[in-house]
Amino acid sequence: MASDLKYQRILLKLSGEALGPKGFGIDAETVRRIASEVKRIHSLGVEIAIVVGGGNMWRGADAAATGIDRATADYVGMLATVMNSLVMQDAMEKLDMVTRVQTAIEMPPVAEPFIRRRAVRHLERGRVVILAAGSGNPFFTTDTAAALRAVELNAQVLLKATKVDGVYDDDPMRNRSARKFDELSYMQALTMGLKVMDSTALSLCKDNRLPIIVFNLHQPGALEAIIRGEKCGTLVTS
Ligand code: UDP
Repeated sequence: MASDLKYQRILLKLSGEALGPKGFGIDAETVRRIASEVKRIHSLGVEIAIVVGGGNMWRGADAAATGIDRATADYVGMLATVMNSLVMQDAMEKLDMVTRVQTAIEMPPVAEPFIRRRAVRHLERGRVVILAAGSGNPFFTTDTAAALRAVELNAQVLLKATKVDGVYDDDPMRNRSARKFDELSYMQALTMGLKVMDSTALSLCKDNRLPIIVFNLHQPGALEAIIRGEKCGTLVTS
């Protein structure tokens, strides 16, 4: 294991929106690009677990607003994350990476069930573990699942990939004078209502002192810079 790296084991959270060009559906080229960024850090010897969202296909809360039962809508959302995870796995394996998908809802013909000790073993053996179906429970998000798995798997950091290069005090897409934070405390992120992650996810990170780095995955080399300990994105810590 390379000792010049700041992080040896990470959990990468990919939102479903990151996989589609307009935030919807799956764009093969985008998925390939993400896979090659992951390969870059994997080849440095980093142990990588990935939690993939499903918002590019389905969001439980939005679907519930149309009249579908919320828990049912959330299960559909969890299934969407499985689709994204399998597509991500395929792209990584095309790049000769060894991967495993583990699902929080059992579906043995498709993937392994999530078994913490087995996931750790895969990581130790250099396999990228893609964790699908969120936490397996409705009324949660994949951000919360990412925080939970990161803590369970003893990841040193949760890397939250977004479309912008960190956390801002306003939407930088709409407000040109929005200010970016280099660093934030969990409490600031929680009380200011900043769009880092939902409060359940943030609280879990805070209670377990798990640092979060929010960064732009579409910026080539950003992931590697973070792994090497360079300043990149916004660090959320105590
Ligand atoms: N979901 C859930 N429990 C979980 C994770 C996800 O019910 O533990 C459902 C929820 O309906 C959510 C959808 O799956 O809206 C897709 O996940 P999310 O919105 O977190 O995806 P992202 O925004 O990261 O693409």
